[in-house]
Amino acid sequence: ARWDAAHGWHDARSRPLAEFSLHPATMAFHYGQTVFEGLKAFWRPDGQRALFRPEDHARRFARSARRMAMPELPEADFVAAVEALLRVDGAWVPRTRGHSFYVRPFMLAAETHLSNRPAEEYLFAVIGSPARPAAGAEPKPIRLWASPEYVRAADGGTGTIKCGGNYGGSYVAQREAVAHGCDQVVWLDARERRYVEEVGGSNLFFVEGDRLVTPPLSGTLLAGITRDSILRLAGRLGIEVAEEPVALDDWERGCRDGRITEVFACGTARAIAPVGHVVTPDRDWPTGPAGPVTRRLLKALLDIQYGETPDEFGWLRLVGTD
Ligand code: PMP
Repeated sequence: ARWDAAHGWHDARSRPLAEFSLHPATMAFHYGQTVFEGLKAFWRPDGQRALFRPEDHARRFARSARRMAMPELPEADFVAAVEALLRVDGAWVPRTRGHSFYVRPFMLAAETHLSNRPAEEYLFAVIGSPARPAAGAEPKPIRLWASPEYVRAADGGTGTIKCGGNYGGSYVAQREAVAHGCDQVVWLDARERRYVEEVGGSNLFFVEGDRLVTPPLSGTLLAGITRDSILRLAGRLGIEVAEEPVALDDWERGCRDGRITEVFACGTARAIAPVGHVVTPDRDWPTGPAGPVTRRLLKALLDIQYGETPDEFGWLRLVGTD
């Protein structure tokens, strides 16, 4: 669909996936005015497909658009566009538990102009692709690199939304992580490089004694929809949850003295991935393999997504077949 001030959103249609061309002066190329979402569809034993929390993704998309001075797409239009894609491409939703279909709605500044100001024309589109399997029963622990130099987000910036530049700006640290034998970056706060914030495309959780602890939404973290789901599932399972700052030093100490017994990252792409090791320029420490709390939460989440447990939170939106 397209947007301009005179017509609002218009020209919504489905078409076969193909190259599409944009003029070199398209503003998105120059000023990074782009936002996106990532959500999943799951095949259910009854043959239907289910989208996981699409309305929440729609609301976050609208929040991202507002922060980037872009027009909001109404929630219902966002969900309808995602459903339209699934109705055409639903056959691609794998029928095996563990597999899913990843949906990528995005919006970009489509006006062709070299001025440095918000564009006056936008393009919204949705594409999708079968996703690699989420963690199975034995998820492989990931190694994290605590980036000393680069930060992902600062107060007042764009860390709380999903805009393209957040990711482009993180690749230099991601490269550093790989050079240090790690899978992902664990980001520290911009002010003191003391508190942990999030991991690549995931939020972080710690099992500390009987409690599940996650960094608070301080103004620099993305409010992960999986994060919110884990907090609610944990509550339902009788696990005490807390949103508290976690310092990197306390993380190390907690793992060494046995106070922290499990750490995991969570997001749409990977569901839940246990953290096995943390590496910094001057020290590193193991955080243990996937423990019982991590496994329990992963199973609870996947059971809902694959339709094997009643959807008591109302998270699934069923999309029928045509
Ligand atoms: N943090 C960042 C920076 C992300 O890109 C993502 C993925 N959207 C997440 C956390 C996890 O969010 P969600 O659970 O909504 O996928």
